[in-house]
Amino acid sequence: MNPTHIEHIGIAVVSLDESIPVFEKMLGTKCYAIEEVKDQKVKTAFFKVGQTKIELLEPTSPESTIAAFIEKNNGKGGMHHIAFAVEGIENQLAEAKSLGFRLIDETPRGGAEGLTIAFMHPKSTCSVLTELCENKNK
Ligand code: ZN
Repeated sequence: MNPTHIEHIGIAVVSLDESIPVFEKMLGTKCYAIEEVKDQKVKTAFFKVGQTKIELLEPTSPESTIAAFIEKNNGKGGMHHIAFAVEGIENQLAEAKSLGFRLIDETPRGGAEGLTIAFMHPKSTCSVLTELCENKNK
């Protein structure tokens, strides 16, 4: 596998309203996009740090995986996943599988910001939930 860079770091938050101002202060930049991803039952907020983004994720339903994460984390948010940018996500996923990584998404699907994404299982990635993503619109 050969990711080109860290596309974003996903951080689970209890409340975007409370978290956005904290990240705006910390990063010295305004949140440039808020998007609900219905499929994943989350509302996301994005910041740019160089070519990498910070993605805040607030659950919109108790069934969201982000809600489960927060519950396990004693009602608090925290680091949730790392996302690597790749070229040719289908081939990268096939390679990941052949290398013995466990895939959550066997086939890529649509994510926030129009990216094509797929998650790898933390059991096979040293307990770090790992996302591969490709911008097919560029
Ligand atoms: Zn992500």
